[in-house]
Amino acid sequence: MAVIRVALDIPVYDLFDYLIADNEPISIGDRVIVPFGHRKLSGIVLEISTSSKITQERLKTIINIPKDMPPLMGDIINLAKFCSSYYHQPIGEVVHAALPTIMRKNQPYQSRISEEWLYADLKNELLPKLSRSPAKLKLYEALKKKPLNKIEIQNIGGGHAIKSLKIWEQQGYVTRRPIAPASAPTDVSTQFQPDVAPELNPEQKQAIDSISQEFNQFIVWLLQGITGSGKTEIYLRLIEKAIQAEKQVLMMVPEINLTPQLSQRIQARFSSAHMVNLHSGLTAQDRFQNWMQAQSGFASIILTTRLGVFTPLPRLGLIIIDEEHDPSYKQQEGIRYHARDVAIMRGKSAKIPVLLGSATPSLESLANVGQARYRHLLVSTRANPESKLPRVSLVDLRSIQLNDGLSDQVIRAIQLRIERGEQSMLFLNRRGFAPVLYCPGCGWISPCKRCSSNMVVHLYQKTLHCHHCGTVEPIPSSCPECGELDLRPIGMGTQRLETNLSKLFPQARILRIDRDNTQGKNIFNQIFNRIAMGDVDIILGTQMLTKGHDFPKLTLVIILNADSMLFSSDFRAQERLFTQLMQVSGRSGRAHLAGEVLIQTSFPAHPIFRAVQSQDFSTFAHTLLSERKNLGFPPYTFLAVLKAEASELAIALRFLKEVQDMAKSSHSKVTIFDPVPTFMYRRKNREYAQLLMQANQRTDLHQLLSRLLRQLPRHKEVKWHIDIDPVEV
Ligand code: ADP
Ligand code: ZN
Ligand code: ZN
Repeated sequence: MAVIRVALDIPVYDLFDYLIADNEPISIGDRVIVPFGHRKLSGIVLEISTSSKITQERLKTIINIPKDMPPLMGDIINLAKFCSSYYHQPIGEVVHAALPTIMRKNQPYQSRISEEWLYADLKNELLPKLSRSPAKLKLYEALKKKPLNKIEIQNIGGGHAIKSLKIWEQQGYVTRRPIAPASAPTDVSTQFQPDVAPELNPEQKQAIDSISQEFNQFIVWLLQGITGSGKTEIYLRLIEKAIQAEKQVLMMVPEINLTPQLSQRIQARFSSAHMVNLHSGLTAQDRFQNWMQAQSGFASIILTTRLGVFTPLPRLGLIIIDEEHDPSYKQQEGIRYHARDVAIMRGKSAKIPVLLGSATPSLESLANVGQARYRHLLVSTRANPESKLPRVSLVDLRSIQLNDGLSDQVIRAIQLRIERGEQSMLFLNRRGFAPVLYCPGCGWISPCKRCSSNMVVHLYQKTLHCHHCGTVEPIPSSCPECGELDLRPIGMGTQRLETNLSKLFPQARILRIDRDNTQGKNIFNQIFNRIAMGDVDIILGTQMLTKGHDFPKLTLVIILNADSMLFSSDFRAQERLFTQLMQVSGRSGRAHLAGEVLIQTSFPAHPIFRAVQSQDFSTFAHTLLSERKNLGFPPYTFLAVLKAEASELAIALRFLKEVQDMAKSSHSKVTIFDPVPTFMYRRKNREYAQLLMQANQRTDLHQLLSRLLRQLPRHKEVKWHIDIDPVEV
């Protein structure tokens, strides 16, 4: 019997040894089903050996080898190993993150992949050989027109047709490939014209030339260019180059649903290259099929969210990460990793270029440029020469009366757009009708019983919602404390804004976009088509709207509650707000119509607003960077946070205190802060605390953690996880 070491999809750091019959063919990367306690689990073989530290009698034998997927490729296993050690996440869970969910089940999967046949255009023609068989001739002609699936082939050529095809296949005239799943990625509801590539401007050309000249080596390129500067055009040209070189391209975006335009643009440009999507919105079957097409090398372009960073790609030649600053690249649950950083590691071992693009690069990436680790490319003007940067004005709230939350200046500006047949967009980062319900009698405000937060008023549904745990309750008819009947919604959410706008502009067509009304497949496609067709006058919504859309008639952007984000304790708050304001203001005036941005604020002197007014990202970003340097924050120091949860805060804090003492005694170069309750310490009846660790050298932090995490005190009632390079502290 041989011994295999298996990575199981459970939160344990080690591999598990199993026995396997000597004559059973097995390779590294194979999926196996094994017994585990009373359960059956799926696992991936990472090592094959002849011996085990565990005595033979105690070793169990595997249940089976499903052979329902090809063995996981070595480079992906190595990437998973790297992530496991860098992020201190269990290897089994990381390896399984590389697989479609179907491959994580504990039974074999009956694949329903079907295939189609295509004619391979060779120099020597098949035709002369066919002259005497009308059936074969018919099949040949049909195949030359388009690829055919099995049923079509039998309809045309009868029962023997497949046999002929197999012979032609041996002779090299035809090939087979798996069929693209029906639901992805072509979307029937969106019509798009094959597009014609525009003439590049000098900056675009320079960026493309620089990368092309070093196309066969690992370099991280940071492409910084304001919205509308033609970054996507640069991606398209590089994708084209990669395809010509028969390479695969991994392109990552923060959220595919929010950016249907991008996938349309790629398809319009590369109608003959095969593109697949990978994201959580696909059915498990589709995700498996798309994954198979990626891992077999058949798909050339893989458009994906953070979860696709581990997709096996045998011909990978280029990685593109759009909106690289976006915090959603950081996986915040389960295994915690930063997809941008993993992608860079991947590019490094594959020796290929990695292109990061953004109008507002992350401070981490800018610092890497400063330290000559990344190369900087700048596109400084909008691609459309008629398109100008928007004019940004502040509306000083200290001296004026608001009308339903809006200033006169804002109301007049919207009115003007309606008269001109242009569009306005309003941002308010709060969904629901009002953030709290208030009792003027006793001062009661609507708390969530399970969280340390307030219930939000959803007036349309006549309910109170907790946005953290999902609790929904009817709006009480009187105050639960004092019986007062006149309870009042305080503050403004998107529903209230919508109501107010329809009172102010009764004729206008108003569209609200937030998480409450965007559930459902393809809803974003419909929404964006409506806006693009000019079917809407006023768009209002949450930060969902900040992602890169391009609406030619949108000339006014209004930002309503930026102030609520000005004074946060998170050291990244300023960066995040600035980035959002710059992104949002970039939405206006992208075509020939000039854009205007109005920001309502009580703090007009705040430097962040002046930076937005000058539309100068780099200067303010570098100011923030030097602040980080002076204060000893990332990217100049390295952080890890250990989070603990329990039924009571005191238990979580006590656990972390114990860890703190252990850590302090074992490593002097890492600063261990006192354990504290997390910002929202109570969620869903559980209470959370955290322990922050900081080091000037990454290696010190990792040395400490490698030891510490394997010997943490065991407390039945405490659950913990570690977050390396946390994005929220
Ligand atoms: P970004 O990705 O930086 O927001 P895009 O690549 O989407 O910018 O370009 C913005 C608009 O300008 C798009 O409509 C695009 O088709 C167009 N565009 C891009 N490059 C050029 C160019 N060189 N000449 C003319 N139009 C261009
Ligand atoms: Zn009351
Ligand atoms: Zn709650």
